Amino acid sequence: MLSKTNRRLSLPGLTVGSVIPDIEIPLMWIFFPGVYDHLLLHSLIGVVTVGTALAVIVTKLLYPPIISFFFCLEYNEVKEACRITPILILSCMLGALFHVLVDIPMHPFNPVFWPWIDPREIVGPVVLFFAEGGNIALGFTIANTLFTAVMTVLGSIILAMNFGDGIWKRLWIGNSDISEGQYEPA
Ligand SMILES: [Zn+2]
Repeated sequence: MLSKTNRRLSLPGLTVGSVIPDIEIPLMWIFFPGVYDHLLLHSLIGVVTVGTALAVIVTKLLYPPIISFFFCLEYNEVKEACRITPILILSCMLGALFHVLVDIPMHPFNPVFWPWIDPREIVGPVVLFFAEGGNIALGFTIANTLFTAVMTVLGSIILAMNFGDGIWKRLWIGNSDISEGQYEPA
């Protein structure tokens, strides 16, 4: 979606960046059970440092073999789209940032300004809206369900809009005939 607004951004970078923050959740469960399940990678400071670095590494090393294998795409073509460039790094960062911003309304605590602002002080407005009688857990459950429903609908629309020949190429590599530095005529 983001890459549609600016075709010069890297679709693989945006895609990997937008899922990277959640890889900390299982790690937090294992290493810091009972505290927060998201922290560093859901903070602005974490996104622009560790999050972006991780996303770049995953895009470069894991994206080409995994995506070309599962979606029967030309390995070298995916690899070429995952070359490390300033645009790819920026795309990884924007993807992760987008994830963190979308998470905020839907979560009962948000480490976006961690370590300066306690995550518990930032309660998502959608959670509060559905927190009947101050029941934050209920608010979170409803917000989460709603979010999943919206994402499923959006995902289906994107799939339907791209349906046809080359769908996986469009969805995983993006518009590859626009190479770096070239503008698409309006
Ligand atoms: Zn998240």
